[in-house]
Amino acid sequence: MNKDIYLTNNLKNKKEKFVPIHKGKIGMYVCGPTVYDNPHIGNARPLVIFDILFKVLKSKYGINAINYVRNITDVDDKIIKSSKEKNIPISELTSNIIRDFNDDCNYLNLDKPSQQPKATDHIDLMIEMTSSLITKGFAYEKKNHVYFEVNKFEDYGKLSNKKLKDLIAGSRVEISENKKNAEDFVLWKPSSGNEPYWDSPWGKGRPGWHLECSAMSKKYLGDIFDIHGGGIDLLFPHHENEIAQSRCANNTKSFANYWIHNAFITMSNEKMAKSTGNILKIKDFKKNIDGQVLKLALISAHYKQPLDWNEKLLNDCQNTIEKWYEVYQSIDQKITLDEDILSPLYDDLNTPGYIANLHLLYEKAFKGNDNDKSLFVLACNFIGILNITKEEWLSIKKKKLLISEADILKNIELRNKAREDKDYKKADKIRKEFLDKGVLIEDKDGKTIWKLK
Ligand SMILES: [Zn+2]
Repeated sequence: MNKDIYLTNNLKNKKEKFVPIHKGKIGMYVCGPTVYDNPHIGNARPLVIFDILFKVLKSKYGINAINYVRNITDVDDKIIKSSKEKNIPISELTSNIIRDFNDDCNYLNLDKPSQQPKATDHIDLMIEMTSSLITKGFAYEKKNHVYFEVNKFEDYGKLSNKKLKDLIAGSRVEISENKKNAEDFVLWKPSSGNEPYWDSPWGKGRPGWHLECSAMSKKYLGDIFDIHGGGIDLLFPHHENEIAQSRCANNTKSFANYWIHNAFITMSNEKMAKSTGNILKIKDFKKNIDGQVLKLALISAHYKQPLDWNEKLLNDCQNTIEKWYEVYQSIDQKITLDEDILSPLYDDLNTPGYIANLHLLYEKAFKGNDNDKSLFVLACNFIGILNITKEEWLSIKKKKLLISEADILKNIELRNKAREDKDYKKADKIRKEFLDKGVLIEDKDGKTIWKLK
C-alpha cells in the first residue's frame, strides 16, 4: 500500500502521519488485562481496536513486520483480593482467567499478538530496572519500599498534560509516610502474610503495577519503539509513570513515539446494565450472540469517541451481519482490496467510515456478480467479520437461537388459527415478530414450515 497511516498521537495531542523507526520491524505495546476477573465489555474495546490497528499495520508493512506485545498482569493487589474472596490460590485464579481471556479473544476472532508476556515471568528485569533507577538517583528506598521520585523527571505530566500541583490537589496520589513527596509512586513494595513475594535487595516483596510494562516493553521492543496503546483510563497515572521509569532507567529522550488511547464504553440501557450488576462480561454474550456481532458493535463508534452500549446497538449489528450473509460466498483468490476501500482505516482507524464502505460494497454485491460478492466478503474479512461460512453461521445461529422450537410451533398454530378466523392482521403480526427474531415462517403446499432466515 502506498497510502500513509495517520493516528491521533496523545503525546502531541494531534493526528499525525505514522512514520516507523524501522519499516521492517515495527514495535507496538498494548497494556493487557489484569487477570483477577473475567474481562468485561469495556476491556473488549481496546482488544478489538488494537487488533484492527495490528491488521492495518500488517497490510501496509507486511505480516511479519509488526512485533505486537500485549502483556498479562498476573501480580496485582486486585488479584490478591479476588483470590481471598473466591478462596482459591492465586495461581489457580490467574491461570483460569488467562484461559478465559484467551477464549474471549478467539470468540472475538482477534489475531494473536506476537508476544503475550506475563508479569511474573519478568520480575528479575523489574528488580534490575528498580536498582538502575536508584543508582541513577531517580528512585529511593524507605522501609522496604522503593519509590520513583517524580520531581527528578522534568517531563513528568507531558503525556497527560498534568501539572504536579494539580495531581496533588486532585488527590490522585496514594498517601504514605514513607514517601518524600506525595506524588512519588511505588516501584517495589514489601509483601506480608501469604501475599506473593520475590526476593530483592529491598527484602521480600513485589513490584508496583506500572513497572512491568517498562520492563517487558524494553525486553521485547527495546528502549524506544513505535506505538503504545491502551484505554484512556490508563493515560494517567499508568502511562505517565511508564514513560518516567523507562526514560530515566534507559537514559533516553523518548520512549514510545505514538500514544494511542481508546475512549470508554457508556451504558444507556438500564435493563441491560442491571441484569449483570452493571458489568457485562464478554463470556455473558457467548450464549446468545456471535462474536462477529459483538465486534461490529464495538467498532461502530470511532475509538476516540465514547461508545454507548445498548440493546438496540446489538440488535442492529445482528441484523446487519444477517443481511450481509445473504451475499456470502467463498472468496475468489484473485481479488484484492484496493487502497480506497481501506482508506478510512488508514485515516486514524475510522471504523464507522469503514463500516459505511462495507454497506456500499454490500449494495454492489447484492446487485452485482461473483467478483462484487468476493470483494465484499474480503473487505469484511479484513476486520475479522464474515470469516465463517454461511452454513457455519446458520448452525451457530440455530444454537444461539433465543426462542425455542416449541415456542415457534406453538405460534405457528396460533397463526393458523388466526388465518382460519380470517384475522390476517394477527397472523401477519406473528409472522413479523418471528422474522425479527430471525425465523422465517412460510406456507407451502398447504403446510406451514419454518426456517432460519
Ligand atoms: Zn501498561
